[in-house]
Amino acid sequence: MRIGAIEAGGTKFICGVGNERGDIFEKISFRTTSPEETLGQAVDFFQSRQVEAIGIGSFGPINLQQNSPKYGFITTTPKLGWSDCNVIGMLSHHFKVPFGWDTDVNAAALGEASWGAAKGLNSCAYYTIGTGIGLGVFIEGRLVHGIMHPEGGHIAVKRHELDAFDGNCPYHQDCLEGMAAGPAIEARWNRRAEQIPEDHEAWEMEAYYIAQALVSTILTLSPEKIILGGGVMNQSHLFASIRKHVQRMLNGYLNIDAITSGIDQYIVPPALKENAGICGALALGIQALKDANK
Ligand code: ADP
Ligand code: ZN
Repeated sequence: MRIGAIEAGGTKFICGVGNERGDIFEKISFRTTSPEETLGQAVDFFQSRQVEAIGIGSFGPINLQQNSPKYGFITTTPKLGWSDCNVIGMLSHHFKVPFGWDTDVNAAALGEASWGAAKGLNSCAYYTIGTGIGLGVFIEGRLVHGIMHPEGGHIAVKRHELDAFDGNCPYHQDCLEGMAAGPAIEARWNRRAEQIPEDHEAWEMEAYYIAQALVSTILTLSPEKIILGGGVMNQSHLFASIRKHVQRMLNGYLNIDAITSGIDQYIVPPALKENAGICGALALGIQALKDANK
């Protein structure tokens, strides 16, 4: 089996070819510029590679309504040139294969459920904490869509008592993303997140915000695993303090092993590491091929 995979990010695109076991045989990466140039590079890559399906995990928001004329579009992104961009339309012009299409974070959740930290489980939630905050949700064996797709980066959070930062989400100001994404950390402390030392109070605050999101996710969706990826989570010490905050905030309400004794195995980094996104896209491609053969 040869399946194509595209991790379509706002900063860079990764294209790869893999199989049903989650092995990626080859991959390339290039900067995200205009849709014409960037999708053109993807077309060039797959032209000679004979794939049976292509899965795409994309930055969003995106249209996932199968019966909509705008299915396969990136919709209202502020990213220059990409608003109302027909990604699937453009690619399907060149390749007559089934396409899998979902958000980058839903793809990552599916990848982790297929071959990673949530392998063998029926559910997981995947947060990416980077330039923005995204949430992918895999529940009862399916990715969650609904009216659009989860946008868990924009939930409301309670302000930390020592935090004077206003928040920088252009829509909600002090939502989770406005308080805890990489650019919010940088704006609050006047330096890039990767330059802030481990013992700085920034991280306690960061863990406090992320933990609130996790508590909401646990209480509403009850996922069997929570996976935290993205650039900010390179600060691996955050895991311990996020877990502690989650336990403190739940305050004994959920008396289950995953929270009490097993939290180190419950809130975890992506097992697929930097391949979570591309493997997720691969999993979408495999699913699309299966659906087409039904
Ligand atoms: P993107 O979200 O654009 O796909 P990343 O997931 O790498 O990319 O997120 C980029 C953000 O993560 C930036 O705001 C950057 O400051 C932050 N970041 C990257 N590496 C680290 C690190 N080691 N520690 C803390 N923050 C980091
Ligand atoms: Zn917001």
